[in-house]
Amino acid sequence: MTTVIEERTAHGRGQGVFALGSFIKGDILYVGVLDGGPISNHSHASQISKTKFGFHKGLSSKFNHSCDPNCGIVLNESGGHNIVAMGDIAAEDEATYDYAMRNYLIEHFPGPCACGQANCRGSITGWKDLPQQRKNDYAGFVAPYLIEMDVELLNLHRMDTS
Ligand SMILES: [Zn+2]
Repeated sequence: MTTVIEERTAHGRGQGVFALGSFIKGDILYVGVLDGGPISNHSHASQISKTKFGFHKGLSSKFNHSCDPNCGIVLNESGGHNIVAMGDIAAEDEATYDYAMRNYLIEHFPGPCACGQANCRGSITGWKDLPQQRKNDYAGFVAPYLIEMDVELLNLHRMDTS
């Protein structure tokens, strides 16, 4: 397997992950392999299902968040999260995804978001707090349990009002 990404210092944002070659939509930059079993504590872990959290091996945790990312999340057969190009990525580009693509709630990034994008939300929020338009833009590149959680919440509201 050839190396397609590497960790480098991202300007002003600590470490980041950079493309070593070009990618097109659907290309997998990182294959998600879970490190150990699921845990319920989620202080620094990623959400991996509706109720479980876990850690990934390799560079997964080195990807920076962006409010205008060039990558998304696709669950693989092992339950890990592949990080997949949402569009063209050139060599030397930093590869980013939106942390809301896999976490329903984000409670451990209290500071402001440093992504620097024009559409920056100001802070790193979870899927729950994404505008519907943003959710639509990310279709096909978010963990499917987030969609299920939205549906369940909607059904709960319906029960409340009926
Ligand atoms: Zn941002």
